[in-house]
Amino acid sequence: GKGAAMVTAVAYRLATQHAERQRILDALRLSREQLMEVKIRMGNEMNRGLAKESHDQAAVKMLPTYVRSTPDGTERGDFLALDLGGTNFRVLLVRVRSGKKRSVEMHNKIYTIPQEAIQGTGEELFDHIVHCIADFLEYMGMKGASLPLGFTFSFPCHQNRLDQGILLKWTKGFKATGCEGEDVVTLLKDAIHRREEFDLDVVAVVNDTVGTMMTCGYEDPLCEVGLIVGTGTNACYMEEMQNVELVDGDEGRMCVNMEWGAFGDHGELDDFCTDFDRAVDDRSTNPGKQRYEKMISGMYLGEIVRNVLLEFTAKGLLFRGKLSERLKTRGIFETKFLSQIESDRLALRQVRSILQHLGLTSSTCDDSILVKEVCSVVARRAAQLCGAGLAAVVDKIRQNRNLDKLKITVGVDGTLYKLHPHFSSIMHETVRDLSPLCEVTFLQSEDGSGKGAALITAVACRIRDAGQH
Ligand code: BGC
Ligand code: MG
Repeated sequence: GKGAAMVTAVAYRLATQHAERQRILDALRLSREQLMEVKIRMGNEMNRGLAKESHDQAAVKMLPTYVRSTPDGTERGDFLALDLGGTNFRVLLVRVRSGKKRSVEMHNKIYTIPQEAIQGTGEELFDHIVHCIADFLEYMGMKGASLPLGFTFSFPCHQNRLDQGILLKWTKGFKATGCEGEDVVTLLKDAIHRREEFDLDVVAVVNDTVGTMMTCGYEDPLCEVGLIVGTGTNACYMEEMQNVELVDGDEGRMCVNMEWGAFGDHGELDDFCTDFDRAVDDRSTNPGKQRYEKMISGMYLGEIVRNVLLEFTAKGLLFRGKLSERLKTRGIFETKFLSQIESDRLALRQVRSILQHLGLTSSTCDDSILVKEVCSVVARRAAQLCGAGLAAVVDKIRQNRNLDKLKITVGVDGTLYKLHPHFSSIMHETVRDLSPLCEVTFLQSEDGSGKGAALITAVACRIRDAGQH
């Protein structure tokens, strides 16, 4: 009768809605073949970045770091470190002990960098940094001490030596003017001189990936890869000098800062990108740049999710089709939201209260289920893409060494990797699946960027001092 017809109509509508949602989400799901393709393309880009003749055209820059060995435990002394480019800006005092008391002791203070300094002039940014250093020295009761300093500067830098870093381009929302193309050590020293209060001996410019690898290498000599999945994403690893064509010499190895976030900038990911990715890229401070990073890292995942939710709502599949001002606001979904919402211990009712907290008040129980599914699809894709890239790295190391089987450790840091409930396990599984000949161990670093910069500075000082005596 009539009732049965109505039930059928409702069932039909629900089924089409479900199909429609899945069709949209399918664009964000990658098959094993696609991931294998990502691995292969990353491998090709690595070779193009390393080779002299293709370097200038390559998307993945494979930058030499002048770090040639992991620490050997004989490093010692007191060092200052700066950490710029992660979630927080920090100044650190690091005490490295060698021999029987071999250890690293750290004191640090977190400073916020005001938005004006991030998006103002380079002078303002570096004046602020020096102001923080002065405050820290005062706080530690060390005014006047001129300690060797390692500068963890987590942006792509061209280096001709360890104590230089020419900023190629800002990433992660930074856009202080007058810095690109400049040596950040000079910018820092100029700011120190403007203040006329103290002097610093800048010994090393270090990418956070390199600091992380060094820190983990201090505990585990098999650690020859560094990975960051936080605000941004990137990796470094020990490459054969013979393959590092930008630097003379064929002996031994050098750590290469891949700057893999730029993978995709020359179209390498176009066939996997969705409209959501394009929308996020278009509205970023650096459109067309860091395309791989924008599909993986914490600064962007929430925005991808928001764009998917916008689409669902516009199609009447979510929030009763009502587009709220809140949902139209950029940046409402922070990374920690993604981690919270996917937490297995979280009941749906709590998902709903998180949505309410975000001002998305009109949500139903079905809405909560869908939002959670969107978060999970977006995070899974990020973890798999990241794993595919890492699979290329470890397989390259294995091939470099002509091994049938490689045992290697990857040092990892970053808020997304550490705090998201599923990211790490999905990523590990992807690496294992795509590079079965590599036995990869993951080691989380504690405070990798600061400690690592100090260790690198310590090694450099050891060598420098040995040369002087
Ligand atoms: C930067 C890298 C850095 C990574 C992780 C990227 O945006 O280009 O240099 O290692 O973020 O912090
Ligand atoms: Mg960091």
